[in-house]
Amino acid sequence: MLKTYTCGELRAEHAGQHVTLAGWVHRRRDQGGLIFIDLRDRWGIVQVVVDQESGPDAHNNASNARNEYVLQVSGKVRIRPEGTLNPELETGDVEVVADSLQILNPSKTPPFYMNRDDTSIDEVLRMRHRYLDLRRPQMQQNIILRHRVIKFIRDYLDENGFVEIETPILFKTTPEGARDFLVPSRLQPGKFYALPQSPQQLKQMLMVAGYEKYFQIARCFRDEDLRGDRQPEFTQLDMEMSFVEREDVMQLNETLMRAMVKAVAPDKQIMQEPFPRILYKDAMEQYGTDRPDIRYDLRAIDISEIAGKSGFPVFVNNVADGKPVKVIRVPGMAGELSGTQLRKVTAELEAKAKAVGAKGLAWIALPTEETGEVKGPIGKFFTVEQKLDLFDKLQAEPGDLLLFISDAREIVYAVTDALRPYLAAELGLLDKNLLAYCWVIDFPMFMWDEENQRWDPSQHMFTMPLPEDVPLLDSEPGAARGSQYDMVCNGHEVAGGSIRIHKRDLQEKIFPLIGQTMEHAKEQFGHILEAFEYGVPPHGGIAWGVDRVVALLAGEPNIREVIAFPKSQTGADVMAHAPSEPEPGQLEELHIKLDLPVEEEEAQTL
Ligand code: ASP
Repeated sequence: MLKTYTCGELRAEHAGQHVTLAGWVHRRRDQGGLIFIDLRDRWGIVQVVVDQESGPDAHNNASNARNEYVLQVSGKVRIRPEGTLNPELETGDVEVVADSLQILNPSKTPPFYMNRDDTSIDEVLRMRHRYLDLRRPQMQQNIILRHRVIKFIRDYLDENGFVEIETPILFKTTPEGARDFLVPSRLQPGKFYALPQSPQQLKQMLMVAGYEKYFQIARCFRDEDLRGDRQPEFTQLDMEMSFVEREDVMQLNETLMRAMVKAVAPDKQIMQEPFPRILYKDAMEQYGTDRPDIRYDLRAIDISEIAGKSGFPVFVNNVADGKPVKVIRVPGMAGELSGTQLRKVTAELEAKAKAVGAKGLAWIALPTEETGEVKGPIGKFFTVEQKLDLFDKLQAEPGDLLLFISDAREIVYAVTDALRPYLAAELGLLDKNLLAYCWVIDFPMFMWDEENQRWDPSQHMFTMPLPEDVPLLDSEPGAARGSQYDMVCNGHEVAGGSIRIHKRDLQEKIFPLIGQTMEHAKEQFGHILEAFEYGVPPHGGIAWGVDRVVALLAGEPNIREVIAFPKSQTGADVMAHAPSEPEPGQLEELHIKLDLPVEEEEAQTL
């Protein structure tokens, strides 16, 4: 090895030892006869002192060195002189006095500094020079945390009898609600593989094959629009078990998640254990989403009964039409605000509500003193008694702001979901160190797709209905609940799975419901239907979004921060310029001709 110690491990006890280190110049201070270099490697930073008198050659090389040069340094470890100890560095009690210093490789001046944890570095620049960005201590911590998470999972599942099995990347469509990435086959012209959106079918095949407990750290591919927590390729912890019920899968995964968080991120606090369970319909009614952030309350409470009897025509008419009236009570938000300030705050909230389809947002502000006046445009429509009823139902306190949402149910959900995180951020309730896990269960099997006039599976087509709801598939598919379970943390779905259908006749019943002809289904999924005739055990599973899990533990808002080489917003690798045009001859070999849309400018000149 070109080093005998790492830069992060030297301590007072090493004083007197002669060591060799190798790493990058993190920072350099030239004081003439003395040059100080902070030398950095993956394990940390240590101060190197180069004295012209005691090491003239070393000093000469050190004066040529610049930031990010690669050096090899040998010298003696000593306790730092009085007054120069650096408590910020783990190695801050010592320094290495160099007797030899070699420049192993110089570096151009980097486009940004690795020695500052600067969140303002231009994103494109970071991605273009990702190899430099990944040198930053913050990024190294993130990537190493990811390694620890995956290692913990592997060890834990191995100890619990699971086998890790790789499934193919070149495969057939495995629908999970996104577009497939297609790969043309050269050997079979005109045919294409689809990259797996998940190993769903293959893991079910492994259950048919008798492996009983499977997992895989699996790369999945989904061609959809990118968001902060989405990438076209991402990593799942994929898992499947035979002879289990939903409770078994949930228990195992909750235990694993809790143990993993405690082992790899002990500074994080899990808000509630065991994780609370929320029915899908309650999640929608109270939080407006099936992945609620329950670090804070701010639930929407149904007050239709009181509002329907008020004097406010909008509420009365809506309630008569079956549209709910709900209130989010925002503790202390009205506080001491003047009338003008209140109008400004509520106008902002109303704009947020309107952005997701609401016609308006009514409000009532409670005074901070019992004797004060209730403010807000709709206060006058409620009698004193109705107001008292309302405040009682909402457990309102002085200084609260009450936000009234009333519309078609879907819009009420959207407004609730838009306002809650915004309010929580305003009130400073988004604590990154708190992990609020919950399970959401009893999802509907299908969601109605208005555009295509058909049912879409709310998870995927292999989800088993809850046993008591199977008869509903014939009479009222929209009311049937699936055996799906989602694990949610701080408003992100971190895992989702279900018990699967394991009988051919039931599986065949699903296809026409979701608009697939039997012919097409057989073409796409014939292998599953066939396998289902050879003794399939009852089985179920789950998949975690590993990138999301790691991002939450790292306190990062975007999964790009925990993926070594992520894609940009347009699905590009900015460093290597992918996707790129094929090499000459490649398309011919595949018998593919491009038929690209004409660029606008070109079109005008045609
Ligand atoms: N295949 C599912 C997904 O990717 C997970 C599962 O049902 O196990 O979301």
